[in-house]
Amino acid sequence: MISSLASDLIYFTLNNQPEIYAERFCNKKLTGAEDEVRSIETRSPLRDFDLIVTSLHYEPDIVNLVRLLRAGGVNPFREARQTPVIAGGPVVMANPVPFADLIDVFIIGEVESSLDKVVETWLQFKGDKNAFLEEVSKLSYVYVPGLTDGEVVKSYPDDLNSCFYPVKQIVNTRVEPVFGRGFKLEVNRGCMFTCSFCMETKVMAPYRERSLSLLKKLIEEHLTYEPEERRITLYSLSFPIRRDHLRILEFMVENKLIASLPSIRLDLISEEILELLKALNQKTITIAPESFSFTSQRLFFKYVKPCEWFEEKVEAVLNKGFNVKIYLIYGAPWEEMEAIAENIECLKRIIGKAKRMHQRIVVSLNPLVPKPHTPFQHFGMKSVQELKQVFKVYQESLKGLVESRDYDIEWSLTQAFLALSEKPLGKFIVTWAEEGGGLHGFKKAVKRFNVNFSRVFKGYEVGEALPWSFIKIPHEKSVSSRIQAEIIYSFMEKAKRLSNE
Ligand code: SF4
Repeated sequence: MISSLASDLIYFTLNNQPEIYAERFCNKKLTGAEDEVRSIETRSPLRDFDLIVTSLHYEPDIVNLVRLLRAGGVNPFREARQTPVIAGGPVVMANPVPFADLIDVFIIGEVESSLDKVVETWLQFKGDKNAFLEEVSKLSYVYVPGLTDGEVVKSYPDDLNSCFYPVKQIVNTRVEPVFGRGFKLEVNRGCMFTCSFCMETKVMAPYRERSLSLLKKLIEEHLTYEPEERRITLYSLSFPIRRDHLRILEFMVENKLIASLPSIRLDLISEEILELLKALNQKTITIAPESFSFTSQRLFFKYVKPCEWFEEKVEAVLNKGFNVKIYLIYGAPWEEMEAIAENIECLKRIIGKAKRMHQRIVVSLNPLVPKPHTPFQHFGMKSVQELKQVFKVYQESLKGLVESRDYDIEWSLTQAFLALSEKPLGKFIVTWAEEGGGLHGFKKAVKRFNVNFSRVFKGYEVGEALPWSFIKIPHEKSVSSRIQAEIIYSFMEKAKRLSNE
């Protein structure tokens, strides 16, 4: 189990039930054969537990789950075992179909509004898996493969302020979590923006916030439990969107805390916020312009600004002594060398400025992964070869400043392959796990099953039935996805016509 807020929520929500006692398991190795897995708390074997609950955040998490089940003596195929495996998380909410041979119960919803009821149902029918599945499949937000027939509607709490929040949290002492160690404080959930490539904004809809008074109270409670842990990791997809989000930073400064902020929206960067982040000991500011090319900016629906605007913003950040990390996306279906050249040109200007100020900029390059619920489900992904060529151009032009690896492109392929799948991939995933997981295992399984990636590279036609269309996310802004797909499509048609003239 990694230390994420979802893991904390699941673990404590389960243990808050008087009739449940939950323990945690985690993979010991990232790849290869696992030794027999035992629980962190009592060193008990996984096969001795009556129920397994997990959350998938990143599509390839499934192979590690299967490696864990196998190493714990639990058959990974749902029909071949008695112990129910329940899974939730953004990947599952977007498209559960590829995992349907492996998972018994998919929760299409957020922990606070769904897990208790699912577990109560299991308690009611404990020992009779078929009766449990029959009953739990009646819940509107649950998908049980083979039993659910019809729509499944995401469940979520309207008001985060009235939800349980894990103040005592799990600390991963072996692996550094993605956003660093510290008290995980979720400021808001969902996002009010609609960047075209972003699946999170769709499946985590609607946008909700915790009140300032609650956020302060949670920090205070955390400090009473763990006075030595002064680092607070702020979880937010768009921070600090409101004035009172800034007030939370002020409160942290008053309490001599340290902040860890995954990324900040460029249009929200101000003198005031930079001063506060400096006082909170933040060393690096991460920004995600995604592209400096006007065409890509318009079709990503994020920022539409000239390079000078980005230069000014980055200069303001550098002036305060921060290092800067820049996220860019490459490999959009419309992207030509011209857009790549524009990006490199703007990056060189920004990097030059940083060098003159003796500060460091690193660039994280991310291939566009077409995800369900986004317009890119209709366009697919560029070939691995094309992506590698583009990546090489960036690497050669930005010598030593690109922190991504060639290897990330192949991981993107695994993500897209799982994310867009229209059929259960249980046998493929189990073979992948038997081969040790990781990219090496993936390639071996691809060879064994003679996988055809045409769906990944072509996507779904507009109007074609989508395998995940039975999943309904209230407030998903699906209209915006459709309109975005039409805008992207008409842009690409026009560009094709022009290039043929
Ligand atoms: S990428 Fe855009 S839509 Fe997605 S979370 Fe960030 S700001 Fe929101």
